[in-house]
Amino acid sequence: MQQTPAIVILGAASLATARRIQQHYPQAPIYGLHGRVEADQSYSDFGATLRALYQSGMPIIALCAAGIIIRSLAPVLADKEQEPPVLAVAEDASAVVPLLGGLAGVNHLAREIAALFGINAAITTAGELRFGTCLLNPPEGYVLADVDEGKRFVADLLGGEAVSLQGDAPWLAAARLPLAEDAGRHIRVTCASGAAHDELLIHPRALVVAVEAADAELPARVRSALHELGLAEAALACLLAPLARMSEGALGEAARALGVPLRFVECGAGETPADWLCRSLALEEVLEADGLHIGRAAQPVAVEQLGRARGRLSVIGLGPGAAELMVPAVRRALDEAEDILGYATYVNMAGPLRPEQVRHCSDNREELQRAAHAFELAASGRRAVLVSSGDPGVFAMAAAVLEALEGSDDPLWHAVELEILPGVSAALATAAQAGAPLGHDFCLISLSDNLKPWDVIEQRLDHAGAADLVMAFYNPISRSRPWQLGRALEIVRNHRTPQTCVLLGRDIGRPGAKLTSLTLGELTPEMVDMRTLVIIGSSTTRSFPRAGGGEWVYTPRWYR
Ligand code: SAH
Repeated sequence: MQQTPAIVILGAASLATARRIQQHYPQAPIYGLHGRVEADQSYSDFGATLRALYQSGMPIIALCAAGIIIRSLAPVLADKEQEPPVLAVAEDASAVVPLLGGLAGVNHLAREIAALFGINAAITTAGELRFGTCLLNPPEGYVLADVDEGKRFVADLLGGEAVSLQGDAPWLAAARLPLAEDAGRHIRVTCASGAAHDELLIHPRALVVAVEAADAELPARVRSALHELGLAEAALACLLAPLARMSEGALGEAARALGVPLRFVECGAGETPADWLCRSLALEEVLEADGLHIGRAAQPVAVEQLGRARGRLSVIGLGPGAAELMVPAVRRALDEAEDILGYATYVNMAGPLRPEQVRHCSDNREELQRAAHAFELAASGRRAVLVSSGDPGVFAMAAAVLEALEGSDDPLWHAVELEILPGVSAALATAAQAGAPLGHDFCLISLSDNLKPWDVIEQRLDHAGAADLVMAFYNPISRSRPWQLGRALEIVRNHRTPQTCVLLGRDIGRPGAKLTSLTLGELTPEMVDMRTLVIIGSSTTRSFPRAGGGEWVYTPRWYR
């Protein structure tokens, strides 16, 4: 099995069975429902947690009724070929039911778990029962040419057809296939394309295309070269390019378009990537078409050992905290990450993470050092994610990352694929809870004088007050900065009446979130802590009662 599963339980009654399964998969975290059971990780929403795990591709072993799992995952059951294994296990370990992920090895996982408890897994896949292997799920490094054709093929075998085996398929040797010399059906393992109607074609990923550079035409050229040579695109293991061209976008785009990894190799003087390939990998042959060199190995190629990948650094914003306020691109970056860096609180908020994802939690206040660490990881070919709360560009890590990059003359840092992914900033999350206090012109001000002189802050507050902007204060107060907020309010009060609307958002989007609506006259620094965002209205910001309690606060879009 490729990935560590997540074990999900709803209550204490399942804990013993969960721990028994965990003994077999020591890396697997147990997720327990908050308030019901103490486990390795806690969650508060079963459905949301299950969907997040499913979408991150993590195998799921849920100790609860199959129906609950089905209902929870129903909204996200789109792409069957990609889905991870999902199993239901009875809390008393009397039943193991594989539900989803037939092509990802769910039956294998079900058998392993059933064996732990000395019971039978509830396998219902006919082909697998009969042949002892899932023909549609070849091992790593091999790929089925056509899943739908494959299903018909398996149905034929179930209907009594015999089969012959051509090519190297070591995993099928142990299977109980109805083998015969003069069979009417054939399994063929080959890089060549084009299955006859009575064939199941399985491609080893054994082709490597070596290029010196890329342009927009490259994917089409690769496809036509493969076509000309009678080779299957699915047999392509990777694209190989010179290290010196790592930062060229066209190479990355070509690899993405072809759906294969891109690897970079350090060529010697006068050496091409094709030369490098010939001397570094045992090849059966090197083919040429359309000016491209395509190497074919006898076995699937271990891509991870071929040169190196272009690393990626994603500087992301989690939003205020709630999973549903995180943008999908951020979730994707987190799911794909190998290294996750940031304050421990934020790294924990970035879950669910898989055990093999390395967490670099720091309480390091030195932002440039953290940025440098992230670049070092990415420059070594890894996919790193640097986590901020809210938006990474709002009083957070993105600016430090760019400052570190600008100050670096390391070509490997500059070759990293850097992306900044936005998040819902605290001011926006708080404003939305309250209504629309930022409905007209506004400004965001950090009251922290750690990185800027207090004089500058005072001047800005004065100007923002005079300009009648709505103001949102980040970092309003802390133990080491006790008096600054009081002074800031004095300045604001020179420009605003005591009736001015004020909002305090504390831990918005997190457990224990609290929104307070009050007036400038009522506001004292004691009401505020470092987990609070303060919004001070403009002269036009207004409020009115909400049905059901509290009030709506908004700033109209017209002016006076
Ligand atoms: N990048 C973050 C801000 C980091 S500065 C963002 O875009 O939101 C830290 C300050 O942000 C805190 O002192 C607090 O004022 C505010 N803040 C961050 N998260 C918050 C939340 N969930 N609720 C209220 N305020 C928050």
